[in-house]
Amino acid sequence: MEVIKDRTIRGKFKAAILDFDGTISLIRAGWQPVMYSYFVEVLAATPTSESEEELYRVVREFVDLLTGKQTIYQCLQLVEEVKKRGGTPLAALDYKHEYLRRLWERIADRVHGLEDGSIAPVDMMVPGAVELLRELRDRGLTLYLASGTDEPDVIREAAALGVSEFFNGGIYGALDRYEDFSKEKVIQEIIKSHNLQGEELLGFGDGFVEIENVKAVGGCAVGVASDEIHRAGIDEWKRQRLVGAGADVIVPDYRCLEELLAYLFPEESLSQGG
Ligand SMILES: [Mg+2]
Repeated sequence: MEVIKDRTIRGKFKAAILDFDGTISLIRAGWQPVMYSYFVEVLAATPTSESEEELYRVVREFVDLLTGKQTIYQCLQLVEEVKKRGGTPLAALDYKHEYLRRLWERIADRVHGLEDGSIAPVDMMVPGAVELLRELRDRGLTLYLASGTDEPDVIREAAALGVSEFFNGGIYGALDRYEDFSKEKVIQEIIKSHNLQGEELLGFGDGFVEIENVKAVGGCAVGVASDEIHRAGIDEWKRQRLVGAGADVIVPDYRCLEELLAYLFPEESLSQGG
């Protein structure tokens, strides 16, 4: 665990908003290379003189900056990038469907394995995620799950991991009418319905957008920079992004839960004499 900004007010949290993929679930781990390589393929087919390496840099930059938003926004940006290079783009929704088709090839076995019991949920989750959810609920926080993945998929995958019931505030995901959902909107709803001050909101995420959204209302943001491939340690690229977005704390996963809770709820550890 790494504390980036020590001055954020802590301990008064009443609600927490958590991202799903990369924050709780690893079912979609490895989605980034699938999207990067597909988008590079699309851009390489335009009349551009850029090398694949250059296109890869362009793609990675905009995909990462939009991570946490709904997938359609990355596809909308792809449309713009195709136009910029003199190509004729498909509709953003077509790019999204093709990306999801390629991703599904990679993750179908994981979802089916969880559903038929041949894969244990713990093997498809960020280490310590269930314990984190339990500890937050035990402290009386209302938990919200908000994901840029399509809502029916988030609901299905949360159920497959057995974590749905922790989210007593609800599970929110991307909608076909994409203007009707954003993490910012969910945060505004949470604040309004609980009459919260910003400092009463806690956020967890591995994407730029959700960290920025939580910080924009004065909440405390925990950035999850896990190395999803090796399943241990920090992904330095993600870490830099999350620090740039304003994260207060960076964790690789929740194996450091005790330390993290002591930091987030400082008065508790004082009262326990620690
Ligand atoms: Mg995520």
